[in-house]
Amino acid sequence: MTNQNYINGKWCEAASKERFDVINPFTEKVIETVPRSGGEDVETAVASSQEAWEEWRFLPGGDMRDLLREVAIKSREHGEELAKIMTAEVGKPLIENSDEVEWIASCFEYYSELGRDQIGRVVAPMQEKQMSIVVHEPYGVVGCIVPWNYPLLLAAWKMAPALAAGNTCVIKPSELTPLSILRWVETCFDHFPSGVVNVVTGYGAEAGESMVTSAGTNVIAFTGSVETGTHIAILAAEQLKKTHFELGGNDALIVCADVDVEIAARGAFWAATLNCGQVCTSSERIYVEEEVSGDFIDAVVAQAEQAELGDPMGSTTDIGPMASAEQREKIEAKITGAKEQGAKLITGGKRPKQFERGYFFEPTVLSDMSSSMEMMRTESFGPVVPIQTVSSFDEAVRLANESQYGLGCSLYTNDLEKAFTAAREIKAGSFWINDPLTDNEAAPFGGMRKSGGGRELGIEGLNEFREAKHILIDYQVRRKDYWFPYDLEKGRKT
Ligand code: NAD
Repeated sequence: MTNQNYINGKWCEAASKERFDVINPFTEKVIETVPRSGGEDVETAVASSQEAWEEWRFLPGGDMRDLLREVAIKSREHGEELAKIMTAEVGKPLIENSDEVEWIASCFEYYSELGRDQIGRVVAPMQEKQMSIVVHEPYGVVGCIVPWNYPLLLAAWKMAPALAAGNTCVIKPSELTPLSILRWVETCFDHFPSGVVNVVTGYGAEAGESMVTSAGTNVIAFTGSVETGTHIAILAAEQLKKTHFELGGNDALIVCADVDVEIAARGAFWAATLNCGQVCTSSERIYVEEEVSGDFIDAVVAQAEQAELGDPMGSTTDIGPMASAEQREKIEAKITGAKEQGAKLITGGKRPKQFERGYFFEPTVLSDMSSSMEMMRTESFGPVVPIQTVSSFDEAVRLANESQYGLGCSLYTNDLEKAFTAAREIKAGSFWINDPLTDNEAAPFGGMRKSGGGRELGIEGLNEFREAKHILIDYQVRRKDYWFPYDLEKGRKT
């Protein structure tokens, strides 16, 4: 592996020559080092993407399709290696990382066709012998700033539509997970013209802010926390730069009394603890109707006690370590706070004893939650299932909606009326009925309220990366009656 910045088709060190460590959260050992880049490196990458854009923007649709489809083919060919690199740097189980590679391939396949399907429309003219054509054009250089929990997927969800729409990209991976992106670009984008895709590694603000403030980036596509997103929004506003935000959440999951409690408990436990709960759409607030609350809690606890923690490379591991020591400390503090505010710890809540190293944390079930608790109001991002018993479906819907976020929401019910009432009333970009947390690249993904602005995936995701231009044609050169000289008394003359 090269493990350097990738700029204008070449591998290079940061201008400072400094590098930083990438840590394996299972072994707590350094896997590799990568360049610690800053503003100068970002500017070089952006300049190269600007230059590449001049040709890329006019690439014929068939050529674009072939290039993007090739990314999908190569991603699958290198799938095992890429999945193993993600497992080493993120800590989530290998099987989930293999799925992630398949999803990126599928995303590139989808946009390889969608990008050439339609680039605009023709609208009815307002005068004879005119045509009004609306074309969708790329913005230019897209700065993609991505987090660590799904390093390839969240880059792919930006890059595939951005490239398909005719933009070029500079990618800033998370400081925790730069290796998978570097290897992906090395193995799967080597058939691209130089400068169309550049990667600059570095710590958050050091490398990321320069992407936002650079006069050469036309769009900032960011996935990360609400806090960083807010900061980027302010910086971008100073330049009136277009932004696209996919931010944090505190998703609710409602369990109605009419469902099979065992199935709902399995679904809820998986949705809350998948990838150690480090999923933007993790179920973080569970509202269960009181008739089934006791049975539901018992079934969730059984799930937590059966879950296999271990080496993320292991074939039967359900839950690996958390991604970093910092993430584990954050969830420990959250659980302590919840207990102080009256939550009851039923199982978990500590570091497991069987591991000498690795940022492991036991899957944790909390009951007696109430909506005033900090954990029910802010993002937790850890393997916790906080359960609040509610007296009715209406109360659950009201509480689910009482949030500053609006990323996703899940519901278990067999009742069609409840399903659609909740789906229409609750503010969330994704609403899952009896199947939490699943995506479909042909349908939009994104957040309402503070969870974001804009959508990824689907035609909506493509439109984020192109802007409309109206081309008006009069196919007869003629004098117009609305030109000078004006004369109110004589009226319009031709
Ligand atoms: P983060 O906000 O700390 O960092 C995200 C990215 O921004 C990283 O690449 C980081 O280096 C960079 N960054 C940090 N400070 C910056 C700055 N001042 N200027 C520019 N870039 C900066 O988030 P994280 O810890 O990497 O990821 C976890 C968060 O991401 C959670 O809140 C999670 O909900 C959210 N997330 C959202 C989605 C979604 O699609 N809505 C998906 C995954 C994760």
